[in-house]
Amino acid sequence: MMNSPADKEPAKPSNFLRHVIEHDLDQGTYATRKWGGSPGDAGHHAQGMADPARVRLRFPPEPNGYLHLGHAKSIWLNFSLAEQYGGVCHLRFDDTNPEKEEQEYVDAIREAVHWMGYGTSIADDPAHPGQQASHQFFASDYFDFMYRAAEYLIGAGLAYVDEQSAEEMRISRGDFNTPGTPSPFRARTPEENLARFRDMRDGKLPDGGAVLRAKIDLASPNINLRDPALYRIRRATHHNTGDKWCIYPMYTFAHPIEDALEQITHSICTLEFEDQRPFYDWLLDRLAEGGLVASPHPRQYEFARLNVNHIVTSKRKLRQLVEDKHVDGWDDPRMPTLAGLRRRGYTPDAIKLFCERSGVTKAGGWTDYAALEAALRETLDPIAPRAMAVLDPVKLVITNWGELMGGDDALDACSAPVHPHHPDMGSRRFKLGREVWIERTDYEDVQPKGFFRLFPGNKVRLKYGHVVECTGATRDASGALVEVQARLVPDTKSGTPGADAIKVKGNITWVAAADAVAAEVRLYERLFTPDQPGAGELEDEINPDSLQICQAYVEPSLAQANGDVPFQFERHGYFVLDAKAGNGNGNGRPVFNRAAGMRDSWGK
Ligand code: ATP
Ligand code: MG
Repeated sequence: MMNSPADKEPAKPSNFLRHVIEHDLDQGTYATRKWGGSPGDAGHHAQGMADPARVRLRFPPEPNGYLHLGHAKSIWLNFSLAEQYGGVCHLRFDDTNPEKEEQEYVDAIREAVHWMGYGTSIADDPAHPGQQASHQFFASDYFDFMYRAAEYLIGAGLAYVDEQSAEEMRISRGDFNTPGTPSPFRARTPEENLARFRDMRDGKLPDGGAVLRAKIDLASPNINLRDPALYRIRRATHHNTGDKWCIYPMYTFAHPIEDALEQITHSICTLEFEDQRPFYDWLLDRLAEGGLVASPHPRQYEFARLNVNHIVTSKRKLRQLVEDKHVDGWDDPRMPTLAGLRRRGYTPDAIKLFCERSGVTKAGGWTDYAALEAALRETLDPIAPRAMAVLDPVKLVITNWGELMGGDDALDACSAPVHPHHPDMGSRRFKLGREVWIERTDYEDVQPKGFFRLFPGNKVRLKYGHVVECTGATRDASGALVEVQARLVPDTKSGTPGADAIKVKGNITWVAAADAVAAEVRLYERLFTPDQPGAGELEDEINPDSLQICQAYVEPSLAQANGDVPFQFERHGYFVLDAKAGNGNGNGRPVFNRAAGMRDSWGK
């Protein structure tokens, strides 16, 4: 019935990742995937092959914070590519770092991915081919395998336990101009290394007392190949494995193994991992030679991360905003987290359209926040139910109401379509009475140029109601507007034959004092003042006026508002019922958040 603009766009714009995937599907690159040696060592993860004709991608967040708009780009990219090519995308929690990871984040990430419409699929299980399973994985489930892979490398003479101090290791690694120098521990035999690695595992060495390093090339121009660390000692309780381990794999070691065990075909990441790619290939080539993983192994491809003006996309900085109480939690509607954007009224369709338009390239850059708002307006305009709301109310009194309508308390029933282009969405009903709330800015004592709303002597239409002629206004001692007066022009009600008899240039929104619902409306400005925040101290970059609270009145249909549907408040933009305060903000007033205004205000 209602198509989002995304559906109407002809063909998906192509990008280099689509070319890579199409090439591999064409060539059947992964159709011949097989184990090089005996898969016995690989344990249950390698008892067979997943459907070789499928593209298998993954979105691998570390559960150390809530997902943000940058992650949305990765989520959209991986899940939509998998969908497009009939493949599978795994939601994998990359939980190899015990210190910063928490169950709260695992839950929040899962919820955000599901909210985006992904991550719930059931398909063939790479660990148990022929069986169907959900595609949610935890890197920590592979700790046993990773440990065996490390012992395999030690046995093959490809890894050693280094007991230099961190400082000694840093110095002996050399730099861009100087090759590294071998550690005194580099020449240990595989037997010595194996015994020492087991000592590490068994808690016989203190935290930081040794690391397992790959033995690759100390002269490599790529520092990442100068014997990178594979395992470290860290006594910390892991959210999944508890106190089972006191050694943990390094991310760079763990990640390729996770991809290989899940039989990922294309491992898509952001550009900062480009220099890690040679190690990714080195490791999986060596493990494939040992029969621990299949070959051809997954390949890594990098694209430029999404940066958006006026927001920060870094979990570390977002955590700081929460911890220092600059915002009210990870889901504060000003936060660029998916939880915050959702609470603010952003929809998955809007976010996906924005991600698609921001392009998938190798060249970084900044995307304008206005593009996100534009995507929201474009996707919501065709579907959002309409409503009237008065955000900065002042009373308008229709002085001849009683005379014309048979009493000051008389009420006149009015109605308006829920959506102007969708009669099937029905109509809203509300009353017009002697007193109505109008926007303070809709009245002026003297007509400014180009202003066609209320000023003495001017006629305007109360939208969906009658035409009134302004007769004056009352101000208090300080000059503040307290009340506007007008007279109703008879026989001008919208939808009646007389409605067109009088032409007016102004059409104003209103709600009747008799049936309006008092509501709290929260308006948001950018959270950061600089165009490209994140360069300096967060405190200095924060906009102190990012939240404005209005004691508003909204039309009675909104008393039954539902949390998930954003509304268009006529003239004011797109709003959603706040999911936390909802209809019960203590005082019984519903709370609405503004997602975006009717037009771009970010350029100002
Ligand atoms: P942060 O710096 O915010 O902690 P991260 O990259 O460390 O982000 P991960 O949990 O490791 O966070 O990210 C999961 C996936 O999301 C990775 O594949 C990463 O490349 C991707 N990702 C993170 N930020 C962005 C971004 N701004 N644009 C595109 N993809 C991103
Ligand atoms: Mg990371």
